[in-house]
This record gives sequence, structure tokens and C-alpha cells, in this order.
Amino acid sequence: MPLLHSAVMKVMPHVPKAILWRVAKRYVAGDTLQSAIERLKLLNGRGHPGVIDVLGEDVNSEEQARHVVAEYKQAADAVVENSIQAYVSVKPTHLGLRSSERLALSNYAELAKYCKARKLFLRVEMEDASTTDATLRIFEELRKEHDNVGLVLQSRLFRTPDDIAKLAPGPLNIRMVKGIYLEPANIAHTEPEPIRQAYIACTQQLFERKAFVALATHDAAMGDRCAELAKRLRVERNGYEFQVLLGVMEPLWQTWQAQNHVVRVYVPFGPQWQPYSLRRMRKNPQIFWNVTRAMFGMK
Ligand SMILES: Cc1cc2nc3c(=O)[nH]c(=O)nc-3n(C[C@H](O)[C@H](O)[C@H](O)COP(=O)(O)OP(=O)(O)OC[C@H]3O[C@@H](n4cnc5c(N)ncnc54)[C@H](O)[C@@H]3O)c2cc1C
Repeated sequence: MPLLHSAVMKVMPHVPKAILWRVAKRYVAGDTLQSAIERLKLLNGRGHPGVIDVLGEDVNSEEQARHVVAEYKQAADAVVENSIQAYVSVKPTHLGLRSSERLALSNYAELAKYCKARKLFLRVEMEDASTTDATLRIFEELRKEHDNVGLVLQSRLFRTPDDIAKLAPGPLNIRMVKGIYLEPANIAHTEPEPIRQAYIACTQQLFERKAFVALATHDAAMGDRCAELAKRLRVERNGYEFQVLLGVMEPLWQTWQAQNHVVRVYVPFGPQWQPYSLRRMRKNPQIFWNVTRAMFGMK
């Protein structure tokens, strides 16, 4: 099955867009901001707060990056106007990091201010390892002026425990993930169990320094171990939450919700859904059957 899965993933970028969309749509609210707002309303109604993400990455001009800032401002306004419980989450290369760190920082600072005025939180996401140093610097700069920002850290990377130790003192809000970008073995764990062990160890390190931790995972056993850790370390229920991706492992959301955990759902939207969906599909061994069903109009 893994061989078949990787063969399918190789042809995926060549699958016609309309067919790809039939499979991708479970991971994405839709093309428009309105589609994301509708989905967030439904999720809020089921007790799930949300995260709103405008899909896109790797913009390579200042003009494009400014346009993305404007899109995020619209998203922030829509969240507030519709009384939705959600915050915004943004990739550094979507705000211009590939062009310049200064540009990305000034865009994040502008958005952080805009969000703060609307009582919204802003998450700085983490992308591939070529961006880690700059992303950490941007986050540390933002934290000096803005108290409504958080970061994502990846347990896959060997460097993450050191990065946690080096973060400046003060309130900290971290989304802990395994890391979706496949990194080389000289800088990252590549096998599932070490990635899991590192995730739990980083979570413990964060809890011990009193950080709020968003446990962003669909790994039920690992999530449960982190919740047990929180209990053992006497972390209050408002000191952490679970975060999940739209379309992934819904029965698990219900299990955690039934245990009185907050389960926040990440809702991406926008026309740039292809690279995001391909990364999600890479994680899903069922993908071959999903694509086959879509090809034959069964989905
Ligand atoms: C809210 C949120 C935000 C994230 N933000 C970032 C970020 O900023 N940077 C970053 O590098 N990564 C991010 N990630 C992705 C993360 O790094 C992992 O790649 C992803 O969560 C899969 O790892 P897992 O912990 O769920 O464990 P896994 O072991 O990968 O998965 C656990 C279980 O979930 C199932 N599963 C996982 N993905 C899918 C899928 N797409 N479809 C169906 N089943 C699936 C698996 O089959 C398995 O049974 C984010 C994840 C979440 C939930």
C-alpha cells in the first residue's frame, strides 16, 4: 500500500483540477471567504472554535504580499462581523518571506495590530526548514510589541528543544505539530516513533515554562498522552487545547470533545488550494481509493 500511495502521489499534480477538487474539498472550505465563514458557523454551532487560513504560500513580490495582508484583514473583519469564534493563522512565505524578512515582519506587524484592534489572535505558522530561523526572528520581534501572537513549532526538527529554550521569557502560545514538510535525516527525525517522542518531550518543555499549547494532531494515542501529561503537571484546562484540520479524523474530534477538551478546527479557504491539498493527501493512505472514486464520479 505505501508503494501504491507514493505512486499515486507522483501523478496527483497531473490529475485534472476538477477531479482533484472532488477529493480536495474535504480539506478546504471552498474558494471564497463566505464559504469559510459558513463552515466556521457550522463548526461553532457544534462547539468547535476555529482557525481561519487564507490558502497560499511562496508569494514573490511586495505587491502580492500586500494583497495577502488585505485578504487577511477582510477575513478578520468577517470573523468579527459574524460573531465567529476563530482566529487567523498565516504562513511567513505568504506574507513575503521569500522576498525579504523585513517585508514579512512588517506585514505580520500590520496584521497583528489590525487583529488586536478586533480582539483577535494571530498565529505565525511554520514552513519548511529553510524558513525556520527567519520565522523565529520574526516571531520574537512581534512578541516585543504585540501580545496577541503565537507560533508553530515542529517536533520533527532536531533543533526544536533548543529553539524552545531560547525563546524570550514571557507569555507564550505555541501550536505544537509534528511538521508536514519532509526534511532530511541530518536535521530531522524521519521515523514516526521518534517524531512522536519528540512531540511529547517538547510539549512537556512548553508546559513546564507555562506556555499555552495547542496540541495540533490527529494521532489519538499521542494526543491522549499529552492530555495525561497536562494532568500530571497540573496544567489547567485553559492551558491547552486540541487543534485538528478540517476533513481529518472527525470521530476523534468527538472523542476529545466528549472528554471536555476544546477541539479547535483549522479551516482553510481560497483558490490556492492545490499545494495545500496535495500535502494533506500525502498523509492519507486512503487517497488512491478517493481519487479512483472521484475519477468515476462516485464521490
Ligand atoms: C491545526 C493544525 C495546524 C497545523 N499547522 C502546521 C504548520 O504550521 N506547519 C507544519 O509543518 N505542519 C502543520 N500541521 C500539520 C502537522 O505538522 C502534521 O503534518 C499533521 O497534523 C499530521 O500529523 P498528525 O500529528 O496528525 O499525525 P499522523 O501520524 O500523521 O496522523 C495521525 C492519524 O491521522 C490520520 N491523518 C493524518 N492526516 C490525514 C489526512 N490528511 N487525511 C486523513 N487522515 C489523516 C493518519 O492517517 C493517522 O491515522 C498542522 C496540523 C494541524 C492539525
